[in-house]
Amino acid sequence: MPRNRHQLVVVSNRGPYRTVPVAGKRGGGRIRVRAAGGLVAALDPVLRARGGVWVSAQDADDANQPRPDVEGGEPLEYKMATVALSRTVGEAFYQGVSNAMLWPILHSLPPTVGISPTPWNHYETANRAFAEAVLEVSDPRDLVWVQDFHLMLLPAMLREARPKARIGWFCHIPWPGDDLFKILPWRRQILDGLLGADVLGFHTKSYADNFMGCLSRVGEAQVDFSRMTVRHEGRTVRVVVAPIGVPVDELQTLAADPRVTARAEKIHRQVDHRRILLGVDRLDYTKGIPQRLRAFEQVLKSDRSARNRYVMVQIMVPSRTDVQAYRELKQEIDRLIGDINGRYSSAGKVPIQYIYRNLPLDKLVAHYRAADVAVVTPLRDGMNLVAMEYCTSRIEGGGALVLSEFAGAADYLSDALLVNPYDVQTLAQTIRDALAMTADATRPAMHALRAAVHKLDVNLWAKDFLDLLEQRP
Ligand code: UDP
Repeated sequence: MPRNRHQLVVVSNRGPYRTVPVAGKRGGGRIRVRAAGGLVAALDPVLRARGGVWVSAQDADDANQPRPDVEGGEPLEYKMATVALSRTVGEAFYQGVSNAMLWPILHSLPPTVGISPTPWNHYETANRAFAEAVLEVSDPRDLVWVQDFHLMLLPAMLREARPKARIGWFCHIPWPGDDLFKILPWRRQILDGLLGADVLGFHTKSYADNFMGCLSRVGEAQVDFSRMTVRHEGRTVRVVVAPIGVPVDELQTLAADPRVTARAEKIHRQVDHRRILLGVDRLDYTKGIPQRLRAFEQVLKSDRSARNRYVMVQIMVPSRTDVQAYRELKQEIDRLIGDINGRYSSAGKVPIQYIYRNLPLDKLVAHYRAADVAVVTPLRDGMNLVAMEYCTSRIEGGGALVLSEFAGAADYLSDALLVNPYDVQTLAQTIRDALAMTADATRPAMHALRAAVHKLDVNLWAKDFLDLLEQRP
């Protein structure tokens, strides 16, 4: 396998694999599976191809599991290093700060808990532990690519130890305007932490502009908006727009697999060949799930025949189940679905089919293929890979995509039916229109959407970002 000049060190909160029990095996064997989500889908193939190390926090419940690279599954072609955090530090870092404060504020939503300094100290401690782990497994010539909002202090910590290191950071979620960012009392520290990197990447131009605006109004760095560069402590930091995509070839091959085709046909039979409106989301208050359910309710309410012709399939992946705000959202969604199904079921036809678990990719792709309309309506979303995966899976063309204008993906998928998810009535009308379209009528837009998604292939995203880092003078 060709090895590049610089070893790649990927650093993220979550690791790329988790171990799960093998179904039906006596004695409880475990197998390694790739963790869900865009980040892993993007970077696992890169590390496999070029080798390197993935540094992540050890999941408490995985701590005693056998090493993943010797326990079933595909062989690993890169190393993994884990950062062990104490329970107190780990919880405050992950739940207290990352999930409860940074996640909502960076999504331009109010924090779900009061702002307090204690967990912030743990966030610092955790970032410091990551820095130590990275320094231990890497060498000053390596490329270090730090991922996401959990690790915003890490670039400066690494820079302090290794002034000449090549360090990148990528933001997988949105970046808000400075008016919201200023809610965070640690705003200066966060910006200084990030400016330890050489390249800072964002999904869209508006997130990158927001970030530059925060720097110019909150920090003391010299900001050049025309070049998208920042001078900081004698170095130049580049701020780049680098939209993530999906593994196009892999998904298309999977979509064309006869087993996936057969499963898609089965899904159609199971819903009595009604037209399928598909929602796929992690359970999160940023995803706009209640608004979407209410919009579909309006579709059912306004036309008695709709229940015989349409079915909504909502796949919801459990997420952050130990956080109160997420538990409450789950209850709200359960109640809404129960109400709607109670009110609008008829002759054995249930209007909303609700799947509350994480589906393996082949089953998910079968749903993408079976759906007539995908409805992706987050209130705010860094990019949204589901929208892109849906288009990529439509290998026979056709299919409509209803997409929130507040998803980063909307910047790139202008041929979707763009909607404001807060405006439930208009959303309902858009869903109605999309469901009424024939497959042929949806073909031209889907053709354009597929072309747009092809251009954003995730392998290109990773390659372009790493090239920038490698080319740093
Ligand atoms: N996903 C999955 N199984 C499911 C539902 C979703 O593996 O049952 C994956 C999906 O393929 C996608 C990711 O979860 O890659 C969701 O990414 P997205 O950017 O849409 O949202 P996020 O969860 O990162 O906010």
